[in-house]
Amino acid sequence: MKLPRLLATLLAFSALGASAQDKVLNLYSARHYQTDEALYANFSKQTGIKINRIEAKEDELLERIRNEGANSPADIFITVDAARLAKADELGLFAPVKSKLLEERIPAHLRSTDWFAFSTRARVIVINKDLVKAEDAQNYEDLANPKLKGKVCSRSGAHPYNISLMSALIAHIGEAKAEQWARGVVANFARAPKGGDTDQIKSVAAGECGVAVSNTYYLARLLRSEKADDRRMMDRITIVWPNQKSQGAHINISGGGMLKTAPNKESAVKFLEYLASDDAQRYFADGNNEWPAVPSVVVKNAALDAMGKFKADVLPVATLAKNAVAAQRIYDRAGWK
Ligand code: FE
Repeated sequence: MKLPRLLATLLAFSALGASAQDKVLNLYSARHYQTDEALYANFSKQTGIKINRIEAKEDELLERIRNEGANSPADIFITVDAARLAKADELGLFAPVKSKLLEERIPAHLRSTDWFAFSTRARVIVINKDLVKAEDAQNYEDLANPKLKGKVCSRSGAHPYNISLMSALIAHIGEAKAEQWARGVVANFARAPKGGDTDQIKSVAAGECGVAVSNTYYLARLLRSEKADDRRMMDRITIVWPNQKSQGAHINISGGGMLKTAPNKESAVKFLEYLASDDAQRYFADGNNEWPAVPSVVVKNAALDAMGKFKADVLPVATLAKNAVAAQRIYDRAGWK
């Protein structure tokens, strides 16, 4: 028997009411790893909450959330790099999340009141041993040493990974010394900045430059690569964990937060808490060859293990964001394009 159209419409609307409200989660993600599929499917299985996912580049997603304004369906925004998360925060997009579970699981230096890190990556030094002695490139500061003249390759100073590295240096050695450092590195460039981290690794392996910095997951990806050429390339480079006698290797993050306009706030908090669970931590971190943010969770990843143990900088990642503007100005003044 057919229901009168009006009644059917009313029933449909009530189904969208309070009871159904928490059964959906709208996720805007700048991550796009195959293993994330299993990560999300597992959440739906555990909670019955269906995930609608929109994947795009960070800036596109931020733009979209801003344009959608109060009507945005987005509940959660996930991206990489502390400076980018902080940018979303500065734009007032995140809502503070108070969760005992998240406070207990995620170390204090890997979260702010508005967003949480779920995995970490380190920014390390890579050298071509035929061109640079390992002892001459043990610290980020060494990259400015005139000994390395004509040997340093880099990606753009405007890239978030380098902005965050500079932000950490500002926190540790102050703005004046950080600027001196930037000028020293620029004076050592083998060529003008170009490409991404993988391009720097390739250039070091090819001998176009002697030293560069890279995020660890790019190195792990090449170590795990099915292409023999990639693995041969890794044979030609040496990874140095920077600043092991001082603050430790600079750490950046993947993370996310709940949006202020989130229509499904309860689901959103559940999802953030889920990402801090043992299983999710493994998926989330290992999917991109990163380390879990929750210290008790251990990932078995041969490529990461092969890189060895290291001392990580425990500078609060929220500090990276605070220094981001000063960091960009320093790169501009130093001519690190
Ligand atoms: Fe990256």
